[in-house]
This record gives sequence, C-alpha cells and structure tokens, in this order.
Amino acid sequence: MQFENTREFAQELDQKDELRAYKDQFLFPKVEGKEVIYFAGNSLGLQPKNTQKYVDEVMKDWADLAVEGHFYAEKPWWDYHERLAIPLSKIVGAKPQEITVMNTLTVNLHLLMVSFYRPQGKRYKIICEEKAFPSDQYLLQSQVRFHGYEHTDAIVEIKKREGEHNFRTQDILDTIEEVGDECALLLIGGVNYYTGQVFDMKAITEAGHAVGAMVGWDLAHAAGNIKLELHNWNVDFASWCSYKYMNSGPGNASGCFIHERFHGQKNINRFEGWWGTSKETRFLMKPEFEPMNNADAWQLSNAPILALAPYLASLELFDTVGMDSLIKKRNLMVSFLTYVLKEIAVESDSDFEIITPSSQKDRGTQLSVFLHGEGRKIFDYLMKNGVITDWREPNVIRLAPAPFYCSYEDMFEFGQILKKAILESRSKKV
Ligand SMILES: *Cc1c(COP(=O)(O)O)cnc(C)c1O
Repeated sequence: MQFENTREFAQELDQKDELRAYKDQFLFPKVEGKEVIYFAGNSLGLQPKNTQKYVDEVMKDWADLAVEGHFYAEKPWWDYHERLAIPLSKIVGAKPQEITVMNTLTVNLHLLMVSFYRPQGKRYKIICEEKAFPSDQYLLQSQVRFHGYEHTDAIVEIKKREGEHNFRTQDILDTIEEVGDECALLLIGGVNYYTGQVFDMKAITEAGHAVGAMVGWDLAHAAGNIKLELHNWNVDFASWCSYKYMNSGPGNASGCFIHERFHGQKNINRFEGWWGTSKETRFLMKPEFEPMNNADAWQLSNAPILALAPYLASLELFDTVGMDSLIKKRNLMVSFLTYVLKEIAVESDSDFEIITPSSQKDRGTQLSVFLHGEGRKIFDYLMKNGVITDWREPNVIRLAPAPFYCSYEDMFEFGQILKKAILESRSKKV
C-alpha cells in the first residue's frame, strides 16, 4: 500500500478499519480536556468500559451472599479462575487445561522454576538474553544463588553483536549448542521489552530441548501482542502479566502455561497449596495432596476474585475480536507508524533511528525509537501535548499503539506533534 502522511489518508484507513468501533469501548485519560493518544499499551493497557460492571458484580455478590458467594454467586468464586482458561488458551495457543491464572508474573516464574530448574551435576546453567528485564535478572540471580551457584558462572547471557540493536537467531542457537549439556534451563523474554524484537520461539525451544534443557518463556510483552503457539512449539512453561497488552489493570494477576506432558504427576517438584488439589476432595481437608490433572495443580491459594474480574472482562473482548484480527490491524498500523516516523525524520531533518526489527515477523506492536540528540525533552513535550509514550534510558522512546484502541489518525497526529517537539527543542538550543 502506498501511504501518505496526511490526515485525510489516515482517516481513510480508519474508515476501512473493521476494529474501529472498539476504540470507543476504552477509557482514555485526558490532557486539557482532550483524550490522549495512548502509545503505552505495552506498559499499562487502558481500562475497557465493561470492566467496572465485572468488578461491581463481585462486590454485589459479596454484599448479598458473603461466604455463600463461593458456590452461589452468578459466577461462583471457587472455580472463577477456570473461566479465564478458555479465552487465554486461544490467545497463547494452548489447550485450556494447560493454562492457569494466579499470583503475579515474577512470583509465577519463581514458582515455575521450582519445577523446571532442577540443576544436577554439571547441568546447572541458565541461558537468558543480555539486558533482560531487570525483574528477570533478579529472579535468575536469586534462583541460582538459592541452589548454591554463583550467578556469574551459572547464568549465560546471549549477546548482541557490537553495534547491533537486535539478537540474531543463529547466535542464540550457537550459544545453546556451546553450553550444551551444562544447560539446565532457557528462560528468555519472548518479545524483548526494550526493542520489541520477537524471538523465534519455535526454533529456540527446539534447540533447547535438543541439548536436554527445559525451556520457559517470559511472555510479558508477547501475550495479547503476537501470535503464539505454545503447545505446538512444545514449550515447557511460560508466564505473562495481564496489565500490559491484556488491559486487566495495574499489577493484576498473571497467566501461566504448563505443557500437558507435566500434568497429573504426583512426584514433580512443586510448591503446593490447597487450590492445586483435586476439586472433588478439596473440601474434605485431607492431609494428602492430590494434584489437579491440569495446570491448576500449580495454584496455591484461593483465587483473588476482585483481581480476576477485570481480567475476565478484558478476555471477553479479546475473545470477541480474536488475535488474528488484532494482528492484521497491528501490522498495518505499525507499518503506517514507521512510514510517518520516516517522513517526520526527513521533514525535521532528524536522525532518530527505529531500533525495532523492520520485518513484520520479527516485531509486534512496539516500535522503539532511538533519539540521538534531544531525547528526554522530546518525550516531555509529547506528554504535555497529549501523547503518552514510554521513556527508557539512555535515549529511547517506546511507542506501542494497541490495535484495540489506537487509530490511524492517532499516528498522523502523533507525527505532527513529534515534528513540533523536535523543531521547538532545536529552536531553544540556539
Ligand atoms: C513487565 C515485566 C515484568 C514485570 O513483572 P511483575 O512481576 O508483574 O511486576 C517481568 N518481566 C518482563 C519481561 C516484563 O516485561
């Protein structure tokens, strides 16, 4: 498609957009009375308008039924979390029984490592990407320390090449082969939080298994953003937060995938609690743990219903629209945004650089723009003028236009504001 950087052209794209009505189903912050252009869906997704209703329903059931709500609420609380498994399984490409929802992301990765990081003899190393999301670095360092290793020895980081912004798949595969039978676990972010690069999860999972390692993925930036096929890729386990692309609210519950080949095992290493035991006998309060024959065996506590309600509201929207439609719009939107950025770079004689891979299969919704020069000032100008983006040191602005609630006109408008920001910051300098 031949793009044009004009308002009319953007409006035309909006008119043809089959998902355009969904923008109206989300609540936008306002700056000076005007709804913002929201490009921070990779950090905290917007609130769907129907979320309040789901939360109110739980509050009302609690008021009207109190303890009886566990079994007699409209959506009974004791198995409320199961309602999330079917829509989530479609989003991440899993069987519903491979999905559970509990805790938060870092907590879940720790719990999953209890089962899937079992260092023994010379097989004790973990491979991850360099400059992983800090929580993942702390997670891995504390885990290897817990098992009595030095992180400088036990953690092997996949490196980028000098002067390059993204990882090369071949370099990742080579690292896996080099570490070979010393590798106990691969744990990588499926979409890099800084650059938006999408990893070849299928090939990497295969390579990890070929050397006898377990393979887990942190899907914080992948779930609800890119096409996933966790079951078919044979991934051992994965986890994601729900407040980024999944619009479930700040700090909200996390989803987990555990491949079915690990289900129904009594002797697997796992930290356990009463919500992981068989539903049939749970309330007999027996001393023996009888694991659920699915991913719910990893559940510990009774579920936080007030947190699950917004997640369920959001998943029902995902289920109505489907990942394929979202991805179709995402691809066109990100191509258009790339075009707008390049036009603005020329018009404003700027040398900012998109560090996200340019090919569609290697990126999702996020574009990371490296600003050489007046970085932080431009970010501040955007914020003041109603464009919410995300700033990362030393000089990167991350733009993540979520297909649910961003329009093509947003992209055009953003370009105009960005141009003003650049010209203004320059005129102040001289
Ligand atoms: C956002 C994010 C987290 C945050 O985890 P919480 O435990 O939910 O705070 C962890 N890892 C990655 C890669 C993330 O992007």
